[in-house]
Amino acid sequence: MTKKLTGNQIRQTFIDFFVEHGHTTVPSMSLVPGGDATLLFTNSGMVQFKDVFIGTDKKPYKRAVDSQKCLRVAGKHNDLEDVGRDDTHHTFFEMLGNWSFGDYYKKEAIAWSWQLLTDVWGLPKDKLYATVFKDDKGDVPTDEEAAEIWRAQPGMNPDHVMYFGRKDNFWQMAETGPCGPCSEIFIDLGEERDNLRGTDHVCGVNGECQRYLEIWNNVFIQYNLFEDGRLEPLPAKHVDTGMGFERIVSILQGVDSNYKTDLFKGSLDVLCSLTGHSEKEMLDNFTPYRVVCDHVRSAAFLIADGVVPGNAGRNYVARMIIRRAARFGSKIGLNDPFLAKVAQAVIDQYGDFYPELEKSKTSIFDNLTREEIRFARTVEAGTNHLENLLSDLRAENARAERSRSAVLDGHRAFDLYATYGLPFEISRDIAREQGLDVDEQGFNEAKEEHAKASGGGKAMGKLGGEDAEFFAGILKDLQSKGKLGAHGVEYDPYNSTQVEKYTGLEVLALVVNGESVSSAELDDQVEVILPKTGFYIEAGGQVNDIGYIKSVTLSAVEARGWQIEVTGMRRASAGVIVHIGTVISGHPKVGDKAVAEVDAVRRHNIMRNHTATHLLHKALHEVLSDQAKQAGSLVAPTHLRFDFNHPEAMTHEQIERVERMVNEAVAADMPVHKETKSLDEAKKEGAMALFGEKYGEIVRTISILSSSGSEIPKEQGKYSYELCGGTHLERTSDIGAFIIVSEGSAAAGVRRIEAVTGRGAYELIQKRFKTLKHAAAILKSGVDEVPQKVESGQNEIAELKKELANLRIQSALSSFVFHLNNVQTVKDVHVLAAEIPDSNADALRMLADKFREKYPKAGAALLVTGSTVIATVTEDLVKRGLKAGDLITGIGGKGGGRPNMAQGSLPDGNVKDALGKVAKVVEEKLK
Ligand code: ATP
Ligand code: MG
Repeated sequence: MTKKLTGNQIRQTFIDFFVEHGHTTVPSMSLVPGGDATLLFTNSGMVQFKDVFIGTDKKPYKRAVDSQKCLRVAGKHNDLEDVGRDDTHHTFFEMLGNWSFGDYYKKEAIAWSWQLLTDVWGLPKDKLYATVFKDDKGDVPTDEEAAEIWRAQPGMNPDHVMYFGRKDNFWQMAETGPCGPCSEIFIDLGEERDNLRGTDHVCGVNGECQRYLEIWNNVFIQYNLFEDGRLEPLPAKHVDTGMGFERIVSILQGVDSNYKTDLFKGSLDVLCSLTGHSEKEMLDNFTPYRVVCDHVRSAAFLIADGVVPGNAGRNYVARMIIRRAARFGSKIGLNDPFLAKVAQAVIDQYGDFYPELEKSKTSIFDNLTREEIRFARTVEAGTNHLENLLSDLRAENARAERSRSAVLDGHRAFDLYATYGLPFEISRDIAREQGLDVDEQGFNEAKEEHAKASGGGKAMGKLGGEDAEFFAGILKDLQSKGKLGAHGVEYDPYNSTQVEKYTGLEVLALVVNGESVSSAELDDQVEVILPKTGFYIEAGGQVNDIGYIKSVTLSAVEARGWQIEVTGMRRASAGVIVHIGTVISGHPKVGDKAVAEVDAVRRHNIMRNHTATHLLHKALHEVLSDQAKQAGSLVAPTHLRFDFNHPEAMTHEQIERVERMVNEAVAADMPVHKETKSLDEAKKEGAMALFGEKYGEIVRTISILSSSGSEIPKEQGKYSYELCGGTHLERTSDIGAFIIVSEGSAAAGVRRIEAVTGRGAYELIQKRFKTLKHAAAILKSGVDEVPQKVESGQNEIAELKKELANLRIQSALSSFVFHLNNVQTVKDVHVLAAEIPDSNADALRMLADKFREKYPKAGAALLVTGSTVIATVTEDLVKRGLKAGDLITGIGGKGGGRPNMAQGSLPDGNVKDALGKVAKVVEEKLK
């Protein structure tokens, strides 16, 4: 290779190579796998094609190529502990893949891997190794098919094809289902990369040291595995490959670490300019540099996919990664917020290929910086506490004369997280730096107990965890001054639209950057505590209210007033409700009188969706069964989302019936009654309680009553009866209209309906009508005739395509006949070198066959269209030492194939010159 390719060019060559071989480019799916509740993050390329392999999804293409964003920090795949310590594992990385869905198989997949690595990228053939499957249990046949294909690759050393067992070379998606042997490609990076030199290990493929690096895994999905262990061949066989992008870039750029590639250069430069380190100093401290670069990249991609730092699940991972990056930053002297600067370099490097980064830029910067500031506030207290625990542990260990390294109780580590926001992974880092460890299982148990105690795992996210103590302090203070009662802030979202109830409220506290302040400035992010609030706090699927808190100016001199835009709500601690917002004018002060106004239009839209959700729930019970129970819900201003238990997709007819039933209930103008009563009483009356939800002694109930004169049956007067803390309409007719937008799978056994009501429904209808009218105008038909018109148009296009294909072949044939007159004779050989315009590889191959029909002996032809080239030679010439591939490489092209027929590509440039060389190549080869 002459010029070094950049990382971006390498990704593109991979994609281009497979596009040339008939693959469709498919974009990466999100790091958050849609519709797969079993998986926290997308961790390999196959996640987005899982359903195709199982057979429940079909794609319009049979060959695909992609670069998939992957994250391996949780679950079965967790590489966190390798990151920073080695040069080849990341938390986030890209996996390049080519895919065959029941199309090509081992022969093509292996040949193309080899061709790409050795011909296109020019890797040394003698350094490459391939592993194939040989069952250590002896149940599944050895994959001799793959082994033979590997040994047949030009230049492949047959001793480099090696056999490995189930652990390394057999792939299965789950306990049952599609599975098959895989074949991994390794490269020998040389003795220098043996990090265990001096020990008695032997370097080898799948060995212990880092000398042999896995770069590409080719999985051949050919069996279906049954519960009883039986394997049956699949009717359609698939290919699933995954190449580590950062690894191949480091190899092609000739560097000994993924972090020394251009992919990380921008990030490292930013870091060095901040620390003032020279390159040598950086390399002496490489671990923190590697961890920061890796983690910031992961965090940027996570935030771009909507995963912001938080206390549970995916959000916890985002928080942990950011905090860990901050802590490793402090090891190289970076104590002020710096992560956003590194993130800028990440966006510069990846923004073109992954436009979501550019789009979420502000959110990425804000979230990183905010999280760094939050962490900085508590990290010192947290680590001091941890140090004390660890030194106790060491002392205890010495007393007990234990030789094994001691382990800190996981419950203790959880307390550190709950109180000081120190993630488990960071406590473990600190313990391990001192030769100790932390019990992970105990931590997880404590986390689960806590989640249960605070209500179904949800409260944890809302309590905010680490600053609960701080807000509890504020509450105590306000109570001692008599500003707040025993229960803290009064919460009444049910009458919040009556503004007069929420005027003249005293601003009790303002918190900026985690500190209590007496006044706030323009643009400050501020948390506000008032004696009471009508803003709804996210619960039961219904989202937070937003709105304004404004000063009440008695003099009506507006200039002295101030306004805070409220964008979120949270319970910061028991009894403490805070409004989260930004000062958009003036200077709010503690003690000022204010009015709190919920955005009433938005709230009304939310109430429509909430009442409609209850009607939908009822209708699903009627149309499907009583088992169609709620499994999750979102009530937003724009739409509602409802998950429910049901084993299969709903039919069109069922969806229509549900939609109709809800709209009947809307038209019936039923009153909605809200009552609080004891849980026992409500249950006795048959109110529907949600599974897994925790209720207090006194509950709020929502009943929708059948009104007289409607078509709705009047069973006991109550049409729907649920326990619910949400806000609802007075009458169902206020919903306006209800339209189901989609029905799909949310998880195994769980379906999801999305729907719109009121304004949202009107807008959807309006938009659909416009589209339909537009289509009708284009088709010059009436709206009702659109379907027939489209269908007949489609038929016509299919006909024309067929005709066009025929014409192409005829035109290629006729120009070919013309070219046959120009067949030259070189020695005794008939040589044809011709350009066939506007053709394709398939047509060229047909022409090549024609050529050999005409010259069954002593014939050699090379045909070009665009940059595609096909070469053919007759069998007698193959025996005399001339292969079809020689013709292509001899004129400066790339490619390969069988000895008598090869395909490849020509670099841009003068085709005429290239064609002119063919005769010479023949002459020299046959010398
Ligand atoms: P390894 O044994 O090196 O961890 P793996 O067997 O876990 O690799 P696969 O699951 O087969 O890897 O993934 C396919 C390819 O993705 C690998 O060949 C490798 O090049 C790359 N890869 C896997 N894990 C990582 C990671 N954490 N960071 C960067 N690249 C990775
Ligand atoms: Mg691995």
